[in-house]
Amino acid sequence: MLEELYQKVVEKDPAQPEFHQAVQEVLESLEVVLEKHPEYRKARIPERIVEPERVILFRVPWVDDDGEIHVNRGFRIEMNSAIGPYKGGLRFHPSVNLGILKFLAFEQVLKNALTTIPMGGGKGGSDFDPKGKSDLEVMRFCQSFMSELFRHIGPSTDVPAGDIGVGGREIGYLFGQYKKLRNEWSGVLTGKGLQYGGSLIRPEATGYGAVYFGEEMLKTRGDSYDGKICLVSGAGNVAQYTTEKINELGGKVVTLSDSGGYIYDEEGVDANKLAFVMDLKNNRRGRISEYADKYRSAQYFAVDPALDYNPLWGDHKADCAFPSATQNEINAVDAQKLVNNGVFLVSEGANMPTVPDGVNIFIENKVLYGPGKAANAGGVATSGLEMAQNATFSSWSRKEVDTKLHNIMISIHAQARAAAEMYGEPDNYVLGANAAGFTKVADAMIAQGVV
Ligand code: NAP
Repeated sequence: MLEELYQKVVEKDPAQPEFHQAVQEVLESLEVVLEKHPEYRKARIPERIVEPERVILFRVPWVDDDGEIHVNRGFRIEMNSAIGPYKGGLRFHPSVNLGILKFLAFEQVLKNALTTIPMGGGKGGSDFDPKGKSDLEVMRFCQSFMSELFRHIGPSTDVPAGDIGVGGREIGYLFGQYKKLRNEWSGVLTGKGLQYGGSLIRPEATGYGAVYFGEEMLKTRGDSYDGKICLVSGAGNVAQYTTEKINELGGKVVTLSDSGGYIYDEEGVDANKLAFVMDLKNNRRGRISEYADKYRSAQYFAVDPALDYNPLWGDHKADCAFPSATQNEINAVDAQKLVNNGVFLVSEGANMPTVPDGVNIFIENKVLYGPGKAANAGGVATSGLEMAQNATFSSWSRKEVDTKLHNIMISIHAQARAAAEMYGEPDNYVLGANAAGFTKVADAMIAQGVV
């Protein structure tokens, strides 16, 4: 039956390969769960969770600095609200389309269920590219985007956050426009600045969380990060704070990347070099190649489209890998090369960065593999903590939020492991995360009737 459902999903929306990929991975894991729980099948939960509750698609016109008019497309996918208000980021990137946002929203539903905080799942964004735009152009785009989105969201309805291309600057402009249109201050967006309701540790949370999740996986083998060589991709929010936490826990990060290429620094990206990367990416908005101009210990490798693999993963001996850029950035060749090069831990900061054949290679080779929906849930969990602070007009200390985040990641690991054990595959975190997240959402949906 699940194969039949999968085929229907493909037939209905043939141009959404990323969504098909995410659905297939989850449905495969659910075979064993549904065997044990015929009530989920009877209530048609699999059919219901693959269909968004609501999809909003809108025009976003804006004017550039030369007075030219541009039109982008805006989206919000309100996927599932069984356990709380829709929650999930906004992505601004030229590759954004309905299929990519549906995959992200679908993953988000199960991820949010693991966080222990009552949040449903959603995702949104636009095919707008903030790269190369002035601050004023980004502001005008964000204001136009929010002029439509504001009527669909609210602190108890749908609470967006950042994702690729949406950081503190964009959240500020979006929040300002929402507040003006609604004439209300509320925790309608997370990832806000500290001066106006943001939470300490929210910027750090996804990266820190992925490293905490990896630490829990290491503990199952009596191991730690001490002295471990780590490959990190990306150079944005997730990659930066993944690097910071790995350094703090005794590991060494030797790679970072952006869409142009990657750097390899055998001596490691230490705190000073990371400060350079943060200024480069967050303030000057430059390219990672500049790292190799600045530090002699580093080499820069531009993306080579002729290769069928990414040398960041394939060409360097390492122990751990933290994909932190985008979906499908590790193909099957990369996965096999990672295993051959000694990598025994993969903790995904990005969403669905590994293709299904790559995931199978990790599982067959007993790699400690933390799929994104479990390993990168620290970001949305801390967004949940930001919502709690906003709702009570309070703000918690850095230590308080970090401790809560750490405990949430320990709990997510424990839930995923317990579910995987229950279904007879204790090291399979893919099965564990899917089964634990799905069960919570399915039980809530059954309790609320056919709505
Ligand atoms: P970000 O700050 O915008 O950084 C993204 C990084 O990935 C940049 O270095 C970017 O390089 C690179 N990248 C993006 N698209 C790429 C592509 N198609 N090919 C190669 N490189 C690409 O975004 P982020 O917030 O760190 O998000 C990174 C990943 O983590 C995404 O998968 C996101 O969904 C996931 N995630 C983020 C959060 C969060 O709290 N931010 C939470 C959970 C999961 P360029 O600058 O050259 O494009």
